[in-house]
Amino acid sequence: MSTLDDLPLRDELVGQRPYGAPQLDVPIELNVNENTHGLPGEAIADIAQSLHDVIAGLNRYPDREFSRLREALAGYLGHGLVADQIWAANGSNEVLQQVLQAFGGPGRSLLSFTPTYSMYPLLAAGTQTSWVAVPRAEDFTVTPEVAAEAVRAHRPDVVFLCRPNNPTGTGLSLEVIEAVYDATDGVVIVDEAYQEFAGPDAPTALSLLAGKPRLAVSRTMSKAFAFAGVRLGYLAADAAFVDALRLVRLPYHLSALTQAAALGALRHSEALLANVESIRAQRDLIIRRTRELGFAPYPSEANFVLIGGISDPQATFTALLERGIIVRDNGIPHTLRVTAGTPTETAAFLEAFAEVASPMAADS
Ligand SMILES: *Cc1c(COP(=O)(O)O)cnc(C)c1O
Repeated sequence: MSTLDDLPLRDELVGQRPYGAPQLDVPIELNVNENTHGLPGEAIADIAQSLHDVIAGLNRYPDREFSRLREALAGYLGHGLVADQIWAANGSNEVLQQVLQAFGGPGRSLLSFTPTYSMYPLLAAGTQTSWVAVPRAEDFTVTPEVAAEAVRAHRPDVVFLCRPNNPTGTGLSLEVIEAVYDATDGVVIVDEAYQEFAGPDAPTALSLLAGKPRLAVSRTMSKAFAFAGVRLGYLAADAAFVDALRLVRLPYHLSALTQAAALGALRHSEALLANVESIRAQRDLIIRRTRELGFAPYPSEANFVLIGGISDPQATFTALLERGIIVRDNGIPHTLRVTAGTPTETAAFLEAFAEVASPMAADS
């Protein structure tokens, strides 16, 4: 067998590693920010029926424009959006990749504020878009002034703004988005994968879309919706922006099964989102309790907490894993990220964490 090194790989992929959050079969999986609650029974039965209904027609290609799904997604998002302003793909990662295929590419650049979602540089490499990482402040916030200044200095073709930010949980004000939009001629994508966890009345970049043809907001059914296995991410923007993505999508990229499952889930959105409040409470409990234990959790508007002030994160990660709990080491010194799960999972995590983790000394 040959190795990757023996193959005539594209230069920018040499030495890269595939996205690789470990997929281990352990009792408590709190490492990839899924909604750890199962689907409600009523939704399962209805989605199963919808899937059954399309199977007989699987000899035909699916609706290439997934019109019914786009209408349903527009209805879910509200803000006066209509189907022409909605796009979807197999996970919001694919949506973001399509954005880079349409607006990035050779000789072009993508800017974001780091640390942020680890897929952004990989999507850039995969589309030959150069990656510009602008560091966040020490507390991981970004101000409108700093953001606009960075965009004016680097003149990127595409800006990704992750709010709440993964892996830090940090919020981002709408003023930052407006400042970035005004400072660039490129496209600005606001990744709101965790928006539902910010609270029912939290501001959303959807409210800024009107009159901003270079702005787009991406969402996903993988997190709050408890539907990660289906792979359905989507985006809202001006209809012309959506047309641009239609230039690069593969024909029939959303299978009839995916479309039926997503439509079914949207019919039950209330039931699927029913645990969001409880997850927010578990998140706040993780913050409170780890602070009491002497750690430095960062504020979070998402369904996870980045816990700082851990003296030896790698040892802590391993010790938790030995107890059947997997969390995430994102490589930020002295931190681990943990997903807020069910009350039982959170309690088990907090008990084990108190046992195996030690806070950094106060003077270090
Ligand atoms: C999880 C996540 C996504 C969503 O990925 P899918 O492909 O929709 O599963 C997008 N952006 C961020 C920041 C995420 O953490």
